[in-house]
Formats: sequence, C-alpha cells, structure tokens
Amino acid sequence: MSTDEARQSALEHYRQGLQVTPEQLAQIRDAFVREVQAGLRRDGHSSLLMLPTMVDILPDGHETGEFYAINFGGTNLRVLFTKLAKDKKQVELVEECTAEIPLEYRRCHVDQLMDYVAGQLIAWADHHGGGLHRHERPVIGFCFSFPVEQTAIDAGKLIHWTKGFENEGAIGQNAAQLLADAFKRQGLSVHIAAMVNDTVATLAGIRYGDGIDANVAVIMGTGTNACYLEQLSHIEKWLPGFRPRTSDMVVNTELPGFTAPELPLLDVDEELDAESNHPGQQTFEKLTAGLYMGEITRRILLRLVAEDGLFGGQAPDAMKVAYAFTTMHVSLIYHDESAELDEIGRILQEVLQLPADQTRTEDRKQVQEVCGLVAQRSARLMATAVTGLLRQLGRDGSSRPAQRNVVAVDGGVFAHFPAYTALLHEGIRDILGEEAAGLCSLKAVEGGASFGAACVAAAANNYM
Ligand code: ADP
Repeated sequence: MSTDEARQSALEHYRQGLQVTPEQLAQIRDAFVREVQAGLRRDGHSSLLMLPTMVDILPDGHETGEFYAINFGGTNLRVLFTKLAKDKKQVELVEECTAEIPLEYRRCHVDQLMDYVAGQLIAWADHHGGGLHRHERPVIGFCFSFPVEQTAIDAGKLIHWTKGFENEGAIGQNAAQLLADAFKRQGLSVHIAAMVNDTVATLAGIRYGDGIDANVAVIMGTGTNACYLEQLSHIEKWLPGFRPRTSDMVVNTELPGFTAPELPLLDVDEELDAESNHPGQQTFEKLTAGLYMGEITRRILLRLVAEDGLFGGQAPDAMKVAYAFTTMHVSLIYHDESAELDEIGRILQEVLQLPADQTRTEDRKQVQEVCGLVAQRSARLMATAVTGLLRQLGRDGSSRPAQRNVVAVDGGVFAHFPAYTALLHEGIRDILGEEAAGLCSLKAVEGGASFGAACVAAAANNYM
C-alpha cells in the first residue's frame, strides 16, 4: 500500500471512531439514565456511586449578609469574602488564590494543616473586609473536595486522602470540625455552616443567580464530575440520621466511574486504560477529562506516525513520553487559525521537539483535526451526562414541554478552552433538538466553587 493510501485508512479509523453520532449519543444518554436510577436504589448495582450529599438546602437568591469561603480543592487554597445583598448589583465579592499548599503541609499532622488553612483566611480577612474579629461568629462555607462520608450539610468524615495529602489524624474525622477547632486555637469562634465538594458548591453558586431553573452542575478540570438536585422520594438509599427539612437533596453522581457497553471505546482508550494506575476504573473520566485529552491525542498521533507516515514516519523521543502532550496543547492547537498554522508548528517544536521547519502544513492540519476530534468526543460524551440528568429530572422536553434549564459549569477546561463549551452545547442540541437545547444554557459562576460554598453556607445559615 502506498503511504497516501495508508494515511487515509489510519486517519479515517479515528475520524469514524471519535465521531459520536446523534443516535449513539441518545443510546449513551439512555444507558446513563439507567445507571443513575440503579445507583439511587438501595441495592441497585451501578457504575455511578450516586452519593447523597445531605445538602437539602440551596440558595434561592434571597440570601443576605456577609460570608466567607475556604476552597480547599487539592492544588490551590482559595479564600473568599462576599456581601450578599437584596439587590444583586450590590453583591460584593473578593476572592484570593493563596497559591499552592506547601509540600510540608501535605505531610504534617492534620491539626497543623488546618491551622495553616485557618491562618490563611484570618490573615487575608485582616486586609479585606476588616478582619474576622469584627463578626461575633463569622459564617464560613467550606469547599472540601476529597472523599467524604457526608453526615449533615455541615459535617462529614474523611474517608481517605487523595491528591498527595497524607496528613495523619484526619481519616474518619469530621473535616468541618477539624477546621473549626483550628480557628478556636487561634482565638476565633466560627460557624462552618456548610461543607461541600466543588460540584455541589458550583450548583449552589448558580442557584443563587438563577433559582429553580438551575439543577445540574458539571466540572471539567483535571478530572470531571456532576451533581444535580434530586427529589428525596427518588433516593431509596439509606440516609443515616438524616432528618429532611425540604423535599430535595443534591446527589453527587461520581461521574468518572460511569461505564456502559454503549461507550465508544477505541484501541487508544484501551491502551491508555491498561497502562493507567487503575485499569478498568474511571472509564468515563478517561474518555473526557482534562487529564486525558492530551494523552489520547498523543497516542493517536503515534499511530498516525507509524501507520500513515505522519511527520515523515519518525516519532521523536519526546513524543513517546506519556502525558507529555496536555489538554492545554490540544486547546491551543484547536484555536490556531493562522494560514500556516504557526502556533501548531511552535507547539510541535516545543513539546514534541519536531523542528518547525520540518513539519509540513499538511501534518499540522492533521494534528489539528485529531485535537478537534478528541475534544469534540469529550464534549459530546459530557452532553450525554448533562441531558441524562435533565431527563431524570423530567426537564429535557421529552415528557413535558421544554423549559428553561441552566447548567452550571466550572473547571479549567471550561475556563481555558473557549470552544469546549460550544462543542458541549452542540452535543446537547444533537440529543435534545433545537427547541429544548435553545432553552438550555451553560453558565460559569463568577467566583466559581468558592462563591458557591459561601452561598450554600448563607442558605444553611439563613434557614436556621
Ligand atoms: P483541578 O481540576 O486540578 O482542580 P482546574 O479546574 O483548574 O483544576 O483544572 C485544571 C485542568 O484544566 C488541567 O489539568 C487541564 O486539563 C485543564 N487546562 C488547564 N489549562 C488549559 C488550557 N489552556 N486549555 C485547556 N485545558 C486546560
């Protein structure tokens, strides 16, 4: 076979494999809904954990007062102060990223870690908003994105650490109490009114602005996740010690684990999975999330080199390094609109060490096409989860007339990959049709999960 014929066949294989048709999308959406419903049952077996969050109160936009948030997500620590006012135009919001949590605080006793976290808010508040001391008992929303067995809206036991934290004394303890104790050691009595993960906080933030039309939140960063507001009567699982105050509760789907025979896995996905730390797990996340889009692309490009003669059939050593090519590169390549695709040439040189004068425009075009296909597949699969949750809520226009839906989005991919949101919306349109999709908007919240955590604390505090 000539090189040109071979080029057609390998690229064509991925063109076809990565494009998810509207029929496939509907089938995946249906499979997703089945897993959602199984996961809510007491003894249902599901790839979705469907964790009840005990968050039964969300803001409705009428909250007022001064609130703080601590967003402890793993990499960075963020603190926020907000003054919620009746008139939304008067709402004040000051957020600060206190940067990466130093390595030594990832290994010390948890009390020292919490002293550091509390200390960051205290020091920051001294400069913004006049200090914590001016409140009799400052109200704080705590966004804590680690595996927690939630026991109440403001309490939950840490199951185990992730993301490189190893602090002793924390497992099995109520993380909100550990934080409150740290403030106490520094002479402050605070009220941690809510402890939530980033997905739940994001939903709360959008609810504050958009009220009852906002019921679903999705995160697309290094990892992915989604939560939604479910009727309590649909949650058959045992909710230990929970006394309902409303008829709804936020459910954390634990979306990464979703798997179904309908998911269009390719050879490169199977290889990536086999070589990952947890083969056979987190299938949906490996097809979609920021951590993986670059790696999937790298693996496909290697195939194109070997089978199609891309880059003259020679893969540079830098191209053989797993995870060397990232989703940031996918995004930059996707958005290169220059005639000679100069930005792509620069990235190929910088990341894959392919001299810019040796990559042909034709090769650059193929790289751009693959990046587009990988990002598009991710976004379209994400659309099956979003529309699956809208179907579960009876809000997708299939059982009742289409209605307005606001889906909260947050995470680095939404923030830094401008086309991703449009690709997601295109997928939603292919599943729901023009009318229902036209009524569905994807919205990021200013202040993100930190603002959301402050809002859910406000709602819980006002409710008391
Ligand atoms: P995390 O998910 O780690 O808490 P973020 O929500 O900020 O943090 O997401 C970081 C992820 O966002 C990165 O791992 C990467 O996948 C993605 N990302 C970062 N920058 C870009 C970019 N310029 N284009 C596309 N994706 C990006």
